Amino acid sequence: MVRRKLTVLGASGSIGASTLDVVARHPQRFEVVALTAHSRIEVLAAQCRSHRPRYAVVGSSADAQKLAAILAGEGVATEVLAGAQALAEVASLAEVDTVMAAIVGAAGLAPTLAAVRAGKRVLLANKEALVMAGSLFMTEVKTHGATLLPVDSEHNAVFQSLPADYQGGPAARGVRRILLTASGGPFREAALADLAAVTPDQACAHPNWVMGRKISVDSATMMNKGLEVIEAHYLFGVEAANIEVVVHPQSIVHSLVEYADGSVLAQLSNPDMRTPIAYALAYPERIEAGVAALDLCAIGKLDFQRPDSQRFPCLALAYRALAAAGSAAAVLNAANEVAVAAFLDGQLPYLRIADSIAATLDALPTAATADLEAVLAVDAEARSVAGRITRGWRR
Ligand code: NAD
Ligand code: MG
Repeated sequence: MVRRKLTVLGASGSIGASTLDVVARHPQRFEVVALTAHSRIEVLAAQCRSHRPRYAVVGSSADAQKLAAILAGEGVATEVLAGAQALAEVASLAEVDTVMAAIVGAAGLAPTLAAVRAGKRVLLANKEALVMAGSLFMTEVKTHGATLLPVDSEHNAVFQSLPADYQGGPAARGVRRILLTASGGPFREAALADLAAVTPDQACAHPNWVMGRKISVDSATMMNKGLEVIEAHYLFGVEAANIEVVVHPQSIVHSLVEYADGSVLAQLSNPDMRTPIAYALAYPERIEAGVAALDLCAIGKLDFQRPDSQRFPCLALAYRALAAAGSAAAVLNAANEVAVAAFLDGQLPYLRIADSIAATLDALPTAATADLEAVLAVDAEARSVAGRITRGWRR
């Protein structure tokens, strides 16, 4: 058995914690070499105590000093580093073969690309990286011989349902369409008139999944599914016209692949991210993930509906950005991050999230983004435009 040597980017988050839960079940299979967290150093300290990584990375040198003091006091010999450069370094260490990319948002792009450029097995949760830089990212995966394994539950389900040798392209291997399922989030049945007054805690109260706050808001607006349409386009080489979103409130069918002969293959499981995480960690093997067996008779029925475009305008914005190509998806992502952060701070009304993304897309012409620097420049400009737009609507 290969013992995989792991860096977990974003260890202190929801995906990071689930990853370490699976890893702890298989000490003979996985060794943790590096863990990173932006600010929650108590969480990272506890993880270092359990997993004894060689390196830990935090956001600031002040936090690095605090963490180093805690660990030294406990006799944990982890070297503590700080900052963006250190993130890229632990993502590309020679002794590491596998990198879990679980930083949230644009901050994950540079370290995830560093892992790709070092030819690692990259377990991709950080969908924003692919949305921002899709073509560039996939080119780098090919150029550097990296292995990209999707962790996002929908893409993991699609990956499991595609032929093993699928290379993308129209009608290849009889693949006709990808159907991405969406739970519909906490407001699937709310009265439209009530959405104006929605609070951050209501938006983060997802009916089926426990996740970080940014992706929880994205699930409420359905921008999460929009980002996932773009993610699917780049990961699997399928055109937008052949990617459909289906609302499935139970979150049991995680996505489906439709074939030319009318067959539809799907992956089902309880809504617990440890299933796709374990799949990606051990691929192509299957390992125990701590997830309860699926009891279909207890669930009783599985419902499917078309998404309501009036309730979820963010979905159409994502298709629009994908059709525009070039920098548009990076603009969409940056505008969404700015609007969601303002909403979570209690400054922007819920319905203005979609309005400010649309206005930012309107304000910025689509440009070509040839390299990482160009993508980061678009990201910065879109953040500044979106900041100005949202300030006009803040409470
Ligand atoms: P989270 O908020 O719980 O955790 C985010 C992690 O990123 C934390 O470790 C945090 O310290 C780190 N981080 C935040 N800002 C940073 C910065 N500027 N620099 C460096 N590190 C930073 O988020 P999550 O729910 O675990 O989601 C992580 C990623 O996985 C997101 O891209 C999300 O879309 C994706 N994802 C999550 C789920 C889920 O169930 N939680 C499912 C599918 C995909
Ligand atoms: Mg998902």
